[in-house]
Amino acid sequence: MSQFEHINIAPHEVPLQDELKDLLEKSAEMHHHLCPRQVLGVRVGLLGMQLLGFKQPIRQKRLLVIVETDGCFVSGVQAATGCSVNRRTLRINDIGRIGVTFVDVKTEEAVRIAPQNDVRQKVSDRMENAESRRARYMAMLQNYQLMPMDDLLKVERIQLSQPVRDIVSRPFLRVDCSVCGEEVINERERMIDDKPVCQQCAGQGYYSVKPA
Ligand SMILES: [Zn+2]
Ligand SMILES: [Zn+2]
Repeated sequence: MSQFEHINIAPHEVPLQDELKDLLEKSAEMHHHLCPRQVLGVRVGLLGMQLLGFKQPIRQKRLLVIVETDGCFVSGVQAATGCSVNRRTLRINDIGRIGVTFVDVKTEEAVRIAPQNDVRQKVSDRMENAESRRARYMAMLQNYQLMPMDDLLKVERIQLSQPVRDIVSRPFLRVDCSVCGEEVINERERMIDDKPVCQQCAGQGYYSVKPA
C-alpha cells in the first residue's frame, strides 16, 4: 500500500526537471551554493504544495510551513513554496529534523513530509563506488533530484497540537511586559496574576543577564 494512495499523485512521479532546476537555482541564489539539503527542501516543498493544492504565488498567506531545522534545507523549502520568515508564512521549530509541516491556514488541514529514513542508504545502494566523501555528496545531489517521490519522501497526515491561529497569532497586537517594560508583540506574552509578562521575565527565557 502506498502512502500516496489516498491522494491524487502518482507515487513514482519524478519532478519535472525544468521546474526543479528553476527552483534549485532560486534556492542556490539565496545560498551561493547548491547542496543536497536544498534539493530535499525543494522536493519536500513541491510535494507539500501539491498535497494541499497550492501553486505559487499563494495569496493571503493561506499556507503556513513549519520547518523542523534551520540551514540550507530551509532555502529549498522557501524557493518551492514562496513562504518566508519575514512574511510570517514560515516558522522554524528547531527540533533538528529534516521535516516540514504544511498547514492550510483556512481549513487547518496539515501534512508533514520528511525524507524516508533510509534515503541515504538508498543513495549508497545506487552508487557504483561510494568511496570518497565528494562522490557521496555528488550522488546525493543527483539522486535527490531524480528519485521517485515515494522512494525519497514520507508523508503523514497530522493534527497540530496548537490551533493554527495561536501559532500565527495576529500581527500588530502589542502589550508591555509588566516586569521589564519591553513591548511584546503577536500575543507572545504569558499572563501571570492577570498581568502580561514577557517569556523571559516569566522564567521561560533563552538567556540570563551576566552580573555587572
Ligand atoms: Zn548547503
Ligand atoms: Zn519582561
